Amino acid sequence: MPPAGLRKRHQTEGRDLTRPASPEPLPFAVYDNHAHLEFEDGFDQLDPTESLDLAAAVGVRGVVQVGTDLETSRWSAALAQHDPRVLAAVALHPNEAPKLFEQGQLSAHLSEISRLAAQPRVRAVGETGLDFFRTGEDGRAAQIESFETHIEIAKANKIALQIHDRDAHDEVVATLKRVGAPEKTVFHCFSGDAKLARICNDNGWYMSFAGTMTFKNAPTLREALSVAKPELTLTETDSPFLTPEPFRGRPNAPYLLPHTVRRMADTLDEDLEAVCARVAANTERVYGSWDPAEAGEVAA
Ligand SMILES: [Zn+2]
Repeated sequence: MPPAGLRKRHQTEGRDLTRPASPEPLPFAVYDNHAHLEFEDGFDQLDPTESLDLAAAVGVRGVVQVGTDLETSRWSAALAQHDPRVLAAVALHPNEAPKLFEQGQLSAHLSEISRLAAQPRVRAVGETGLDFFRTGEDGRAAQIESFETHIEIAKANKIALQIHDRDAHDEVVATLKRVGAPEKTVFHCFSGDAKLARICNDNGWYMSFAGTMTFKNAPTLREALSVAKPELTLTETDSPFLTPEPFRGRPNAPYLLPHTVRRMADTLDEDLEAVCARVAANTERVYGSWDPAEAGEVAA
């Protein structure tokens, strides 16, 4: 199986690096549709199997493991082959694309992403998209070219698209409209407001809510959740980043997803079990079944 600790999270300054305790289990099992299990973070590192075991014990039955470059995309695809609780997403992150373009490597790497996307347990192309926060004007053309190619790869393989959108809402929407969005399009770690939620509603695009929606300073995200069509909402950890309250800043992992799901139910003033059941059904609609037999894959 792929080794743990392929990447190390270097932002340790001023953070409490102890791992939070497990939350109370959810009444109905859900999926974390965006996590980076290859990252080591904190004092008490979990390997992917331990992390998935802890998650399963609190009602997080499956994870979409997301790549950000060739190495992590290959790792994600390999982990999904190995563990039935994992499906993979493969892509070059929007902040990687301009660097690869400068090195003359972008198209070769995109070809390899396209090859990986054909594997049966790779069910999404992501995370791709646009990031105008970390990439300046100079890198935008390469970023947009990479995003467009990822959209085409998702459509060619009839799998989902996971979008990273940082400070680039208008351009992401414009690109999706120009190129034509895949049938299953997901805004990972949705960061928009009610206006963007309405645009997603109108286009049938999914909105995945992360730990950010639990943050004190995020009333806009909670408003967006209230506006989002219930059948288009998903949830994720983006672990090891974006740990939900009350553990903001500490190491994150899929087993902490219940904090976010509980906050979603509170925000919507809905029964927790009903929210879990709906989000789980939405997730299976986007990525298909985690169960290799149900998904019609050849048994290993
Ligand atoms: Zn991510």
